[in-house]
Amino acid sequence: MWLAARYFCYALLLLGWASRVQAVWVEEHSRFPFVIRADYRVENPSTILAELSELQTELTDKLGVQAATEWIELYLFRDQRSFQDYVSRQFPGFESRRALFIQGRGPAMVLAYRGENLGTDLRHETTHALLRAHTARLPLWLDEGLAEYFELSPEQREADKQHDPKLPAAMRKPEWPSLTKLERETDVKQFDQRDYVAARTWARYLIDGPSDVQIQLRAYLAEAADREPERTLRDRLSELEPDVERTMRAYWQNPAPE
Ligand SMILES: [Zn+2]
Repeated sequence: MWLAARYFCYALLLLGWASRVQAVWVEEHSRFPFVIRADYRVENPSTILAELSELQTELTDKLGVQAATEWIELYLFRDQRSFQDYVSRQFPGFESRRALFIQGRGPAMVLAYRGENLGTDLRHETTHALLRAHTARLPLWLDEGLAEYFELSPEQREADKQHDPKLPAAMRKPEWPSLTKLERETDVKQFDQRDYVAARTWARYLIDGPSDVQIQLRAYLAEAADREPERTLRDRLSELEPDVERTMRAYWQNPAPE
């Protein structure tokens, strides 16, 4: 599971885009900061809203991410075709995506469609929205890595702890992206499957790894909320242990018990 890239996410930052989503919404449900609008009758809106509220709480508790103070709009489509019809009109070129996070001049928006992946997709894209509400200064790799981490519910993450046994070997291969390489990536279109896997692996190490590593992530996120961070996360980690790649690999070969 760990080595399988689930999909490629596009976080669209359309800063000049201000038009509102136009479609026929048959339902609206809200629980601040989330509002759900759907073109079908959603079976479990209160469950979805409760799970996303828990996601916000988890981001705050684990990472110190500030609670969103503006609405985040979630648009749910009855099926892939309805989603694609809509996206092809509003955001041509992105119809093949399974879900989208869009930040224009107005509220943050998440678009997704009904199906077995809906929960995962909502968690992934809403993580982007919540991180964006905290800071607009996250590097691409960290934004995607954290979204990949939190797209699993806490229960799914627990089950995923028996992660792919091939991971330590994959990390030793020359094609494994280094953190230096990840930090250079700024174009999501260039961010490939290996980058996603590496970003997810780093995110998990930063969130669940040694406590001094966890502290660096929280400090970095706190700094990014106020200003452009002076040091990258790699800089911060290398002050703990110069060879950050080797230290991370060693952790994955023998993760400390929690
Ligand atoms: Zn993403």
